[in-house]
Amino acid sequence: MINQDILKIAVFFCILTAGLIVYFCFFLTFRSSAVINNQYNKRSDNFKKIIQRGTIYSSDDTPLAYTQMTDTGEERIYPYGNAFAQVVGYEANGGLGLESSYNYYLLTSHTNMFEKISHEFKGEKNPGDSIHTTLDLPMQLYVNDILSGLKASAICIDPDTGRILVDVSKPDFDPNEIEEIWDEIIEDEDNSPLVNRVTQGQYTPGSTFKIFTLLEYIRENPDYFNYQYDCAGILKQDGYSMSCNDQTPHGQESLKEAFAYSCNLAFADIGLKLDLDRFIANNNDLLFNQDLPVDIAYNSATFALKKTDSDFMVMQTAFGQGQTMTSPLHLSLVMCAFANNGVLMTPHFVTHITSPSGATVKKWKDKEYKRLFSENETNIMNEYLRSVVTQGTAYVLSYEDYTAYGKTGTAETKSNKDENIDLSFFVGYAEKDGQKLVVCVNIEDTRLTGMSAVDYAHLIFNYYFY
Ligand SMILES: [Zn+2]
Repeated sequence: MINQDILKIAVFFCILTAGLIVYFCFFLTFRSSAVINNQYNKRSDNFKKIIQRGTIYSSDDTPLAYTQMTDTGEERIYPYGNAFAQVVGYEANGGLGLESSYNYYLLTSHTNMFEKISHEFKGEKNPGDSIHTTLDLPMQLYVNDILSGLKASAICIDPDTGRILVDVSKPDFDPNEIEEIWDEIIEDEDNSPLVNRVTQGQYTPGSTFKIFTLLEYIRENPDYFNYQYDCAGILKQDGYSMSCNDQTPHGQESLKEAFAYSCNLAFADIGLKLDLDRFIANNNDLLFNQDLPVDIAYNSATFALKKTDSDFMVMQTAFGQGQTMTSPLHLSLVMCAFANNGVLMTPHFVTHITSPSGATVKKWKDKEYKRLFSENETNIMNEYLRSVVTQGTAYVLSYEDYTAYGKTGTAETKSNKDENIDLSFFVGYAEKDGQKLVVCVNIEDTRLTGMSAVDYAHLIFNYYFY
């Protein structure tokens, strides 16, 4: 009897021990990354006590963030200060940007066993692993420079690989002084410097949304090229009124002309001709109302049109007003697929992780995320996106010896002080000798500059290709 009881207790403890081992293995394999990534977690603090945080490098292996030992302890240094404020982010105060999303890797050390023992013997910390990013240092500094003083953002992506080369958001802050300036910047709602406008900005797309309306019309109408519209500049109907820019009539126009000139009234008319069920479903496939495949904090784009909405709402939505919200990241991902035969490559900021001795311990390959358009749709849409440059609102790009494609957009919004302000957008790409670059620029308040978003995109393309 006693023996049986002992046996039961032994079996119970065996099961308990096995359970703990299984949980521990599970934790090490699946959960530790999430736990260490939670910067407020005590476990993360424990890792900080034994590991000196690794370095974040640009694509040419220049440090963008590194830890330096001082008399009083450690100091995190951001050599380029404001230029990478939101994308590289900071470690303190809960973390931001890549410092936050790659926290686990920066606090993991693949230093070799002998060094580990030697460090522990001397009471020193082990050096953490380093992350190598896709960020192009000279280009980020250039874009940072041309947008300084504005409320604006810009993203540049290589559409063939999904590598994000530039992510600039203005206004900014100096991450070296994050703790000193913290109270001031979290209260600065007018400028919101902590928001990465590229990935977290939520904007009315304005005329850039005509890309989605046009694509849907082409998908639903095989004879799309026969579309004609006579624009009077202003449309008054059932108590509402809509107009094209400055109420200037565009007159008789084809579908391509309506897109190139960005005619609001033609696109309002096209909106009423669409099958809304299909339009809503197709936009969900084009990454509206979806998670985005990116390794940094972002907000999803929202397309909120419902079948029961009024004709007025359908018309407004079709030319880019209404309730639709997008981010520069979202628009640029769609553009990446147009630039890459309809296929979106997974966008990413990091290529590989190295140990303190420089050995690669993890690598992310460039890989396909999803086909967004058929090859035929891509060819047709590229012809239309090209016409915006050759005869439309992005004509300023037509003189260069790279071939540019894209769409401009202006949206009227209200400032925090309730003044009418114009938001300016450009999303497009250019190619030259097999090299391609997708650019999306948004300027929140064009009153602060004499230039619109396409003018800044022009500068960025020139910098990249010349
Ligand atoms: Zn018009």
